[in-house]
Amino acid sequence: MYRTHHCGALRLEDKGKTVTLSGWVSRSRDKGFMVWIDLRDRYGITQLVLDSERCSPELIEQARDLGRETVIQVNGQVVERDAKNDALPTGAIEVLVASIEVLNEAKLPPFTIEDQTDGGDELRMKYRYLDIRRNPVKNNLIFRHKVSMLVRNYLSDQGFLEVETPYLIKSTPEGARDFVVPSRMNAGQFYALPQSPQTFKQLLMVGGMDKYFQIVKCFRDEDLRADRQPEFTQIDCEMSFITQEDILNTFEGLTVHLLHEIHGVEKKAFPRISYDEAMERFGNDKPDIRFGMELTRLNALAQHKDFQVFNSAEYVVGIAVPGAAVFTRKDIDGLIDWVKRPQIGAKGMVYARYNEDGSLKSSVDKFYSEEDLKKWAEATGAQPGDLICVLSGELGSTRSQMSALRMELATRLGLRDPKVFAPLWVVDFPLLEKDEESGRYYAMHHPFTAPKPQDIKLLDTDPGAVRANAYDLVLNGNEIGGGSIRIHDRPTQELMFKHLGFTPEEARNQFGFLMDAFEYGAPPHGGIAFGLDRLVAILGGAETIRDFIAFPKNNSGRDVMIDAPAAIDQEQLDELNLNLNPIKE
Ligand code: ASP
Repeated sequence: MYRTHHCGALRLEDKGKTVTLSGWVSRSRDKGFMVWIDLRDRYGITQLVLDSERCSPELIEQARDLGRETVIQVNGQVVERDAKNDALPTGAIEVLVASIEVLNEAKLPPFTIEDQTDGGDELRMKYRYLDIRRNPVKNNLIFRHKVSMLVRNYLSDQGFLEVETPYLIKSTPEGARDFVVPSRMNAGQFYALPQSPQTFKQLLMVGGMDKYFQIVKCFRDEDLRADRQPEFTQIDCEMSFITQEDILNTFEGLTVHLLHEIHGVEKKAFPRISYDEAMERFGNDKPDIRFGMELTRLNALAQHKDFQVFNSAEYVVGIAVPGAAVFTRKDIDGLIDWVKRPQIGAKGMVYARYNEDGSLKSSVDKFYSEEDLKKWAEATGAQPGDLICVLSGELGSTRSQMSALRMELATRLGLRDPKVFAPLWVVDFPLLEKDEESGRYYAMHHPFTAPKPQDIKLLDTDPGAVRANAYDLVLNGNEIGGGSIRIHDRPTQELMFKHLGFTPEEARNQFGFLMDAFEYGAPPHGGIAFGLDRLVAILGGAETIRDFIAFPKNNSGRDVMIDAPAAIDQEQLDELNLNLNPIKE
């Protein structure tokens, strides 16, 4: 038997017991006549003690020689500590060692296995198994498990069945490139890894499963923006005989449950706003509503003067930044530089200070009287003490610039408290999105999303105006879930493919199986998928998903621990009928 207890178990009540523990040598202190060792496992730390009065010189010598991270088994007796450590659950006791067995030696780890480590990101990823021994990473994985279990239990209690769908499939277009897998048995043919189980979960509805969920890996070969992973996990869900309202209520219920169980917060009746309203008020479709600073269109108030910058702009937009009238000239210049960075792309920024004494002073005083500025203040909701920031230009880009500025200011002002949770639904997304370069329309969500019945007639005349029964669940400025009511009949699905520029043959070749299924009694259905990695990160009060993934990939999509992707040898290539020369490293 390796152990009678784990390293987080023993308490004062266990005093006098003879115990066996196994774990890793976390650290030791040597006072000559006394040696202490912190023995660590997943459950905690137990202090081991040896002293010259009660232990043999050989045993003390053996203990003294144990290197960090050596795996040992010890036998001993639980004794009360003189100096108790209240910070440690086992801090009232220590184990007086009777014998030590080394189960495995350890090389000196390349970074310290402590909460605050000296290891850089890349090093920690290369030795991720050592990183996982550290509390912050370990606790994140435990937290993830807890969230997954809450989700599974909740959905199962609601009658959802977890059904596995295949990973070796044919492409499902969800806006990204597919990862593909060559088929050895079918020369020249490839599987694609699913970008999501979308078509399969719909087929499960046709199969009568009624309520499906799956905690499932999805694969998307995208250029990796910060904090994206080529493989990631979804809580994927689908339901039959439901309306959008049923889906929103069901998954609001799940989210309420998670927030309650994890943080003890009570959230009811998430706000619902339309996509158009989200864009107008926040400049983006995943607004962070933990704070105000809503966007106000100032065209009518700002375009009647001689200020050409505003007069020539399609859109003039302002926000009131709370308490920021005290920003120094240098602060504001810093902000202006910030909005002018290429990533943001604004040409400049106009501002007005609404001083505590009620006076208003702007960077465009030449053109606007205090009376004019008062109107800006009224419109944006600025109070004395606030700073009004104004951007102008083309509608789409100016909106995203202002949205970025709003988020940046909120961060600088400490308004994005990770302990505050502000969920909302964004609904009524457009069905289609125009790619400005090609002039083509793409499905904003995916091609299986149903148009709103009353908007179908616009498909031919004004495709951009067609709205979908599609919705996103947004939490603290992040899209944590998204879904839609689906098309469930062949003619509508064919019509949709036509509008997406598929020929009937292309549509049949790629999605014939789905449209065929729709002809055998497909129930009305819809669903949603949550990004589990991000959900866990936000619930865990962090922003990066990598911290919550056991073995994440880096920003170039590499696993630096196993060194993947990697070249394969000629024999394997031949077997797969891939007539390539392996890339020599
Ligand atoms: N398959 C969709 C996605 O991955 C989710 C859904 O529509 O249910 O975003």
